[in-house]
Amino acid sequence: MTTRPTAERPAAPPAGTARPSAQRARTVREILDAGEISYSFEFFPPKTPDGEKALWQALREIEALHPSFVSVTYGAGGSTRDGTIRVTERIATETTLTPLAHLTAVNHSVAELRQVIGNYAGAGVRNVLALRGDPPGNPGGEWLPHPQGLSYSSELVALVKSLGDFCAGVAAFPDKHPRSLDLESDADFLVRKFDAGADYAITQFFFGADDYFRLVERVRRRGYETPIIPGVMPVTNVAQIERMALLSGADFPADLAERLRAVADDPAAVREIGIEVATDLSDRLLTGGAPGLHFITLNRSSATREVCHAVRVRHSRLGAGHSGGPS
Ligand code: FAD
Repeated sequence: MTTRPTAERPAAPPAGTARPSAQRARTVREILDAGEISYSFEFFPPKTPDGEKALWQALREIEALHPSFVSVTYGAGGSTRDGTIRVTERIATETTLTPLAHLTAVNHSVAELRQVIGNYAGAGVRNVLALRGDPPGNPGGEWLPHPQGLSYSSELVALVKSLGDFCAGVAAFPDKHPRSLDLESDADFLVRKFDAGADYAITQFFFGADDYFRLVERVRRRGYETPIIPGVMPVTNVAQIERMALLSGADFPADLAERLRAVADDPAAVREIGIEVATDLSDRLLTGGAPGLHFITLNRSSATREVCHAVRVRHSRLGAGHSGGPS
């Protein structure tokens, strides 16, 4: 359970070169299969005109880095959902970026899900991250599926794959999903998503590289080589990360919390520690064989760009042959 930050169309379209419509964007799986290290960035649909401006500025800054893909989270309802669809479609049609659209089953009938997926296809979006989502308003509350809807993300994967030439990703949890009993049953549910047709997984953010490698190992032990991209979030705000870790079930290490609390009144010092920790984690993940890094930007690109730049310089010669497991 975690609700990712997940909005109205005011700002002018960003300047930049759009991909010519005849040129088909690669799918996430094609990028991973090419053996390149995948660098991707996650955004959420903004709720205000200022937020919209900040989002497009961050997207343009990220575009200059030529990331493998960028993703847009899916909100709990109403305008944020429309925002996800609108932002994703604009990324597909007005930029050179490859978009990955998040989609959740929350409060949707299967007929509505088919319609959203059809809208994505119409805009040329072929990458979908299929998620169940959390009960709106209370992520820890009882999960009640829509009466004509779906109960688990594996069903959404199957629906997405049945509707066309889509590449489907799913969520994975190095610290286990908060509703799962233990790490082993969590891994059993993850491989069910692969059985349903998922092409790869992206993890929840976490802080321990070994937790990621142990997740990969549990999946490999079950006979699956499906790529698992680690999610990385540089800490730039102590209270925010503590709240998000609580919701997502991510273990927030006590020593890191202590280091950050000691400088909590100094945003620059918090940011510096956050970047140092995320760079070290990213470095260890790529050195150990992770197929890429998925940076959670919270719509402010500068910290994630710094981390990405640092690890890209270090790993520029390690492009091929990464398997997603410890080396
Ligand atoms: P599922 O895979 O359906 O799992 C839900 C729970 O049920 C888990 O405990 C699982 O172990 C268990 N389970 C799975 N299958 C079965 C089964 N067959 N039988 C019994 N139990 C089962 N949320 C949003 O609202 N919008 C977003 O855009 C968003 N993006 C995310 C991106 C990433 C990379 C990640 C990691 C999470 C994201 N989330 C988002 C949060 C996500 O929706 C929640 O974590 C949600 O609680 C679980 O989603 P899921 O797809 O893993 O669900």
